[in-house]
Amino acid sequence: MPRRQRSREFEHYRKTLQCPNGHRHALTFIEGTGDLVENLGMRDRLMLENPLSRFEDRLASIELVGRLRQFNHDRSGGLSIQRFRFDSMFACDTCGDQWPVFVQRELKIIDYQKTGLSQTSIGLEKRRLDWTQSSADSTCTLEFKHEWMKRVEVGFESLTSREETRSAGMKGSYGLLAINAGIQQRITESLKLTHSVTSQTRKTSRQEVEYVFPAGKVTVIKTYWKQIWQEYECRVRLPDRDKIVSIPYRVAFDVTFDQEVEHI
Ligand SMILES: [Zn+2]
Repeated sequence: MPRRQRSREFEHYRKTLQCPNGHRHALTFIEGTGDLVENLGMRDRLMLENPLSRFEDRLASIELVGRLRQFNHDRSGGLSIQRFRFDSMFACDTCGDQWPVFVQRELKIIDYQKTGLSQTSIGLEKRRLDWTQSSADSTCTLEFKHEWMKRVEVGFESLTSREETRSAGMKGSYGLLAINAGIQQRITESLKLTHSVTSQTRKTSRQEVEYVFPAGKVTVIKTYWKQIWQEYECRVRLPDRDKIVSIPYRVAFDVTFDQEVEHI
């Protein structure tokens, strides 16, 4: 596994013990929930609270670690770091900003494929046509139209069972809670781009149907509108860890209807 690259902001902190805006003594380390970063460089290991258990190469003396830790925490108000994770951040209470410790990988939709069609009910429309005064059957064409939004719905809730790992050595449960709201938002936005769905993609579907209305009757037409979805599954590389997950989603692409016609 390649070594994680430190962010520009964290590099600045390491050199100055200040936040990128120049504040010190009010910095907090936010561990995160991503995978642990194990193959740290020597200088990063020296920043940990308990680095000695990982010192295989014995390059740093206990004295050096002690001095560094004392300087870091006691005199300069530096970060208190137990362990690094891919998505660890640090925050400054003075300016309120947060920065990632490591350069974050771009979230990437690797590919996607169609998995089928589905339908959901979106409403019932009722029309009543009174032909009780008529003495002969009539043939008439009626237009039915429905306005709908082209949109994407992502099935984040079914992620757990679809976990995929990139290498055999990496395991772990990967439930809904592990993908935070910000990442979910970015995945949804990427899929919207992929399928050219903007927030204002309104569509109107029309269809004409011809009916014979019997004389002396009231005709009731019930129209059950249904949204047709194209179902997909995509593979996404998450930015905060070395994992690829399969995520089901669907794109609204048309509407249709069933009808019940009654002459009473
Ligand atoms: Zn600051």
